[in-house]
Parts: sequence; structure tokens; C-alpha cells
Amino acid sequence: MARVALVTGGTRGIGAAISKALKAAGYKVAASYAGNDAAAEKFKADSGIPVYKWDVASFDACAAGVKQVEADLGPVDVLVNNAGITKDTAFHKMTVEQWNAVINTNLGSLFNMTRQVIEGMRARKFGRVISISSINGQKGQFGQVNYSAAKAGDIGFTKALALENAKGGITVNVICPGYINTEMVQAVPKDVLEKNVIPQIPVARLGEPEEIARAVVFLAADDAGFITGSTLTVNGGQYHA
Ligand code: NDP
Repeated sequence: MARVALVTGGTRGIGAAISKALKAAGYKVAASYAGNDAAAEKFKADSGIPVYKWDVASFDACAAGVKQVEADLGPVDVLVNNAGITKDTAFHKMTVEQWNAVINTNLGSLFNMTRQVIEGMRARKFGRVISISSINGQKGQFGQVNYSAAKAGDIGFTKALALENAKGGITVNVICPGYINTEMVQAVPKDVLEKNVIPQIPVARLGEPEEIARAVVFLAADDAGFITGSTLTVNGGQYHA
């Protein structure tokens, strides 16, 4: 029986690459998204992967969304917490809305989503929880106090949850991408990318979404059971925590 994988924010960018790579590896995949219906429908038509709309910042929406996915595909074996946003600004200008949106979407979502599936994984004695943090959660970033705090929180979440579930066949790991060629990074002005970002990357290019997907497929595998609580950096050599 194919294992079931649920990828949050699985319809665009890194998440879309993860969804497609897991499907290619033989998983039954569900991809969630927030509200960009056009992108989600296009992704669904291209990939044949079913899509589901809910806000990962809402616990109740996650409960209803996971219930629907499980009714359609079966219990979730692999959860990929990928959905994330930025609301960058210097901290002394940051609003409480910018803080709360980023903390709730990028960190609160790990509780909101993982809490829905962990009891089932424990009962079935198998599970994979893989979260997508960021290099900027490891090293901090100017203008991203909210984002860096949330992404650092993802790493602590992973380490603690891994300990609690290590004996039960469940692994919990986090991937810290560097700068990846998605809409999130394409929003950075081209001259800033060329003058400030790419020169900091030893491999001298942005990463591709498929390069993060490859790491997810590796960690999701049945024979990756001895890897848990790990932080895997995939950043072209830019930073090592
Ligand atoms: P994109 O902006 O390209 O895609 C984000 C995806 O997440 C979309 O599918 C979006 O849905 C979904 N999403 C956003 N907010 C919510 C929400 N509240 N509820 C449900 N789904 C939501 O992002 P990337 O692919 O660039 O980033 C993916 C992850 O990787 C993020 O966690 C990001 O922080 C992290 N990351 C990215 C890096 C990069 O260089 N791109 C570097 C390091 C980390 P919709 O389409 O409906 O908006």
C-alpha cells in the first residue's frame, strides 16, 4: 500500500516540487494551499495531485482539512510542514499584525498540523514529520525578526518532538533551505539578488526547488528511520550552524 503524504503549501514553489517528487517516489500525495486558486488549479491539472484549501495558521481549519484528506486518501504517514510567508520590515517598524501573521503561519502551523496527525502515527507506529525552516532561522536576517524567530522555533519544535516519538517509529526532522529560486525569492529586487545574495553563496547560484524536494524524499523513506531530530542544511554552502 502506498504511503500517504500531505504537503502544506504544496501547490507552489518549493512545496510544489516536494509534492511532485513524493508522487514520483510512489506516495499518494495531497497538497494544501491558502488562497491562490489559480495556481492550485494549474498545479492540480499539471500534476494530477489533489489540492485542498485551508489556512495553516488556524487550528480548527487544519483539523477539518486533515480530516478531509484522510477521508479521501487514508491516514497521513508523511507530513511536510512547508507553508510559509514573509512580512519583512525592520523590527522598530514591525506591526503586531506582521509579527503575528509570520509566527502563526510559520511556527504555529507546525503545532496546528502536526497535532492532527501525531496520534494516528503513534498508534500505527510509523510517521515522518518534515518541516521546512530556513537558513535565516539559523543565522538571523536583517528585516526578518519575525521570520527568523519563527523559523528558529521550527528547529526547537523538531528536536523536542523527535525525542518524544523516537521509540515509536516516528522521525521528526527539519530542512533549512538557503536561497531557492521561487516567487518568494524572485520578489527580492534583481540587483539585490545579483549584488548581495548570490555572491554570498559558495556554489554561486540560487538553489532549485527540486533540490529541497530531493532532501524531503530522502528523509521520508522507510529506511531513513535512524535520522531523527536532525537539521539538514541545503544552502549551497552558505552557512553551517
Ligand atoms: P511560495 O510563496 O512560493 O509558496 C508558498 C506556499 O505556501 C503556497 O502554496 C501558499 O499557498 C502556501 N501558504 C502560504 N501561507 C499559507 C497559509 N496560511 N495556509 C496554507 N498555505 C499557505 O513559498 P516558497 O516555496 O518560496 O517557500 C516554501 C517554504 O520554504 C516556506 O516555509 C519558506 O519560508 C521556506 N523557505 C523558502 C526559501 C526560498 O528561498 N524560497 C528559503 C528558505 C526557506 P497559496 O499559493 O494559496 O498562496
